[in-house]
Amino acid sequence: MVIFHCAGCGEVLTSPLTPLPAVPEPQPYDQPRPGARGPAATIPRGHYAIETEPWGAPYEPYPDNEDGPSQRRAGGKSDMRGSLRSAGPRGNIVLHPDDAVDLTMLVDASMGCCGGPSGDQGLNRACRCGKPVATLAADCTTVYELHLDADSVHADKAPAYWAFRP
Ligand SMILES: [Zn+2]
Ligand SMILES: [Zn+2]
Repeated sequence: MVIFHCAGCGEVLTSPLTPLPAVPEPQPYDQPRPGARGPAATIPRGHYAIETEPWGAPYEPYPDNEDGPSQRRAGGKSDMRGSLRSAGPRGNIVLHPDDAVDLTMLVDASMGCCGGPSGDQGLNRACRCGKPVATLAADCTTVYELHLDADSVHADKAPAYWAFRP
């Protein structure tokens, strides 16, 4: 198990987490998460997985007017230039939003209609020191995932006693 820390100040950001071999398929929309509209979290509590494809902002037009999803586990996205796909970072660390609860909300222009931000405007969660470290996607129109920015955090092995925390 590992714990992720802020690369700026060293603060602990997550619960102890066990890696998954890949990001699972998202939860179906008929499996809503408790207390909110939208699907249940993609990643089960206590786990994380690495998103190997580009995810999040910025978005760029597909070449040759192709159509396709804007990123994994997402539908299409477009603007006046046509269909868009993510040109964001690879290697995001994806976890259940409840496994990193002490993050501070940053101003986010992507606030959706209900559950929270759509997560397509870049980092929207910060460490208590102020360093932006993560992107929360939580609206009903998208998946329910927290993405730690790989360049803004570092991982340490969790000491054995952490395993017994409730
Ligand atoms: Zn920090
Ligand atoms: Zn909504």
